Amino acid sequence: MSQSQLLGPAEIRALAAHLQLRPTKSLGQNFLHDPNTIRRIVRTAALPPDAVVIEVGPGLGSLTLGLLDEAERVVAIEIDPTLARQLPLTVAERAPERAPRLRVITADALQVTEIDGRPPTALVANLPYNVGVPVLLSLLQRFPTLRSALVMVQAEVADRLAAPPGSKVYGVPSVKTAWYGRAERAGAVPRAVFWPVPNVDSGLVRITAHESPPLPDGVTRADVFTVIDLAFSQRRKMLRSVLGEWAGSPARAEEILLAAGVAPTARGETIDVAGFARIASARVG
Ligand code: SAM
Repeated sequence: MSQSQLLGPAEIRALAAHLQLRPTKSLGQNFLHDPNTIRRIVRTAALPPDAVVIEVGPGLGSLTLGLLDEAERVVAIEIDPTLARQLPLTVAERAPERAPRLRVITADALQVTEIDGRPPTALVANLPYNVGVPVLLSLLQRFPTLRSALVMVQAEVADRLAAPPGSKVYGVPSVKTAWYGRAERAGAVPRAVFWPVPNVDSGLVRITAHESPPLPDGVTRADVFTVIDLAFSQRRKMLRSVLGEWAGSPARAEEILLAAGVAPTARGETIDVAGFARIASARVG
């Protein structure tokens, strides 16, 4: 099979004119129009030939066409019905042999709980900026068959997702992402490759899923996430005071933290995900 004809600036302009499209900021509609960047993203995703990919926000199909060259199946979830309707037509025109590999779901990705057919194995997406983190975390939670994710987000969000404990930008998105897998920065993407040009820089983050989450006996993911949310709700406070109410009292919080091997005077920003799991477990154990 020959490679798909990817969308360049002229094709993006023509499609947008045909659809009378007015890209909206609220849906984070900035479309890629650079085939080299698309090839780079697809290469960085390193998909095995049997990959079943979820793509959130396919837009005009720039990345979708690139993904269809590599994956067995692409499930594209698009909230904008005009774009969702056009996508199969674009693929039929530019990559007709691969059209059967595409499934389009017209929906808000935050609401999708089921996907028919073989379970998804990878997430690859140029995420809408305003909902990037919740979309990423909710898909990792709902589809535990995902083995990897490669997402493009605002550069600062990329830094936050991949931040280690103790770094300035380490926070709730970093720890919750680390729950699902190992996150690392996978390159920058310049503004000029988008139409319209956004007023922020973008970056790629690759997440490689853990074989199994760091879950001690007797606790659930939700228990661990409660501790994480509390620990960062008042960033500057010590854990023994911020967890006082959750534990029953600051004294009990101190006992739990000591049992978990965490200094009661520590702050959430220095604790890794395994530490938060031990804290949740020490409360029940
Ligand atoms: N993937 C395309 C590309 O790279 O050119 C478009 C990416 S654009 C940054 C984000 C896309 O996500 C838009 O097509 C937008 O309509 C869509 N979108 C925004 N919010 C969404 C949501 N909650 N669920 C699904 N799609 C969404």
